[in-house]
Amino acid sequence: MSGQRIVIIGAGIAGLVAARRLGQAGHDVRVLEAGNIPGGRVGDRQVRGIQFNAGARLLYAFSRPFNRLLDEIGLTPALIPVRRLSAECVGGDGRWPVELMPGIRSLLTPGLSLTERMRFLTFGLHALAARAHTDPDDAASALAQDNVTLAAYIRQALGPAVLARMIEPVFRGTRSWNTEDVSAAFFASVTPHMVGRDTVHVLAGGMGKLPAALAAGLTVDCNTRVVTIETPDMGPCRIHAEQQGEPVLHEADLVVCATEGSLAAALFPDLGNEDRRFLAGVRYNALGIVHYQLGCQVAPAMNFFTRDASGPLATWQQVPGNDATGQAPQLYAQLSPEAVEDALRRDMTDRLDELVKERVLALYPTLERDCVDIHNQWIARKLPVFYPGYASNVARFRDRQSAVRRRVYFCGDYLAQSLVTGAAASGARAAADIGRHWS
Ligand SMILES: Cc1cc2nc3c(=O)[nH]c(=O)nc-3n(C[C@H](O)[C@H](O)[C@H](O)COP(=O)(O)OP(=O)(O)OC[C@H]3O[C@@H](n4cnc5c(N)ncnc54)[C@H](O)[C@@H]3O)c2cc1C
Repeated sequence: MSGQRIVIIGAGIAGLVAARRLGQAGHDVRVLEAGNIPGGRVGDRQVRGIQFNAGARLLYAFSRPFNRLLDEIGLTPALIPVRRLSAECVGGDGRWPVELMPGIRSLLTPGLSLTERMRFLTFGLHALAARAHTDPDDAASALAQDNVTLAAYIRQALGPAVLARMIEPVFRGTRSWNTEDVSAAFFASVTPHMVGRDTVHVLAGGMGKLPAALAAGLTVDCNTRVVTIETPDMGPCRIHAEQQGEPVLHEADLVVCATEGSLAAALFPDLGNEDRRFLAGVRYNALGIVHYQLGCQVAPAMNFFTRDASGPLATWQQVPGNDATGQAPQLYAQLSPEAVEDALRRDMTDRLDELVKERVLALYPTLERDCVDIHNQWIARKLPVFYPGYASNVARFRDRQSAVRRRVYFCGDYLAQSLVTGAAASGARAAADIGRHWS
């Protein structure tokens, strides 16, 4: 294949995987990234010694292509398995364990009716059978569940108590989604690959190891924000960017746009109507997290709250200090979707700690004495929201992108699955489209 000059906008996991695959195919690839390091929503951050994640904290083991990628970049030995990851769910009427990977122990959740327990068992068997025809890297592999909300789907398939006591707290606590706002496509494509598997992974040395390994050997220009991209009928694409306040211009035969989907359309004044319409429908939820550094050791704890017991928090974590890793003891207070709305409405995204203070003091009464520092983390675009009907739009958009040769390709988790593995699959898919179209 004759090497094309390809510029990739965005060094998140999707952009880095696309860049890697295109470089391997012999193209001349350059990645432009607005942030100061590659990784986007994956990476380690530190503010005044407070350590936290840019986004993802867990890697799911169910994606075979992603596992092969980890092998290829030498990260498999760095995977630390976390078995039976569970949290204590706190509801208005008690506390119970809730598992992130659903399994037989989930049947012990208190408050479920006998019918619901029976349905849960049958559902598990059906889920196992659905493994063959669903892809955990692709919500559009479960289009039959795309037009129903997750809340309605669970209520109907499993029962109201399963929704309130298991599904809702986990989705609010991990994804920051309310089950009435998303379709069942994410759940229906991922759950078959979770049932009966009890292991997720973290990375030794932190999640930043993943983008660092993917970026090794690639040309990645950080601190380079792309402003606009011209795609004239004749001649190269012209990519206008700003690098530390200075304008820079790159030319390329092809462009891969790997930014968050809601930012993509603004970069292309010449974008066709169909693409523009699709991109206008890409939505993200936001998230706020308050990190508290403590001056004394703390016992481990991890709680999700049911809606009636949540107040401004969906997740609460006490993270003990660890001398070996240099991790200081910390508290982690993740806002509920309602508190996120409240923070936006009241323009308090940089004062989240004020919003949650009363609740945190109830959970940790000696906060004023023990806390040595606070960091408010605001993530304006946490996850693409796969609302009802969205996965079908994704499938149509991808089919158009795969059908004919074009100058501009798009990738990102919003075109596959709102997980690291989905972002990687989308980057690989864009590279494969280019391989087919331009060979
Ligand atoms: C808080 C949180 C928790 C999560 N937890 C998990 C988890 O436990 N497990 C899991 O699998 N997934 C998790 N995810 C999801 C996962 O992190 C994402 O699905 C994935 O990282 C998205 O990758 P991406 O490449 O599609 O997008 P991004 O990582 O958003 O990459 C887009 C890149 O484009 C850059 N960019 C944007 N505009 C421009 C521009 N104009 N010029 C140049 N560069 C630009 C951005 O700076 C960014 O680096 C979580 C996400 C968040 C935020």
